[in-house]
Amino acid sequence: MAEKRPPRTLGPGHDQFWEWCGKGELRLQKCTGCGALIWPAAAACERCGDGEMDWQAMTGRGKLVSWCSFHQDYYGGMLPLPYDCILVELVEGPLFLSNPSGFGCEDIEPGMAVAVRFIDCEDDGGAYRLPVFARV
Ligand SMILES: [Zn+2]
Repeated sequence: MAEKRPPRTLGPGHDQFWEWCGKGELRLQKCTGCGALIWPAAAACERCGDGEMDWQAMTGRGKLVSWCSFHQDYYGGMLPLPYDCILVELVEGPLFLSNPSGFGCEDIEPGMAVAVRFIDCEDDGGAYRLPVFARV
C-alpha cells in the first residue's frame, strides 16, 4: 500500500524527475553546455546559465553527510512522529535530501554508505515512487 505523503514539487523539470523515479531510476539534470549536474531540477544551469539539459542516470550510491529527526508535526498527522531526514552526498557529487529506509538516525555513522531504493507513495498529485536510501 502506498504511503500518504505531503505534496511533492511538480512542474517543469520536476515532472521529468518523477517520471524517471517511476521507472526505478534516479536521474538528475546535466547541463549540455558545461556538464554540471543540477539538483533540484531547474530551468537553466546554475553554473553557466545554459538552458539545455539532459537527464543523467546516477549510480544511486552515496554517503551520509547529515541527518536529523523531526518531532514537530508539520503535516496534520500525515507522517508518524518522529520521522528522520538524511542528506546524502551522491558519488556523482550532488547533495540529495531524502529519508532513511531500514535504519534510523540512531544507527547512523558519518560517511555511512547508502544506496537508493524506491517506495510507493501517494500525494494530492497521485501515486508516485519516492527515492529513499538504505544502508549498503
Ligand atoms: Zn552549465
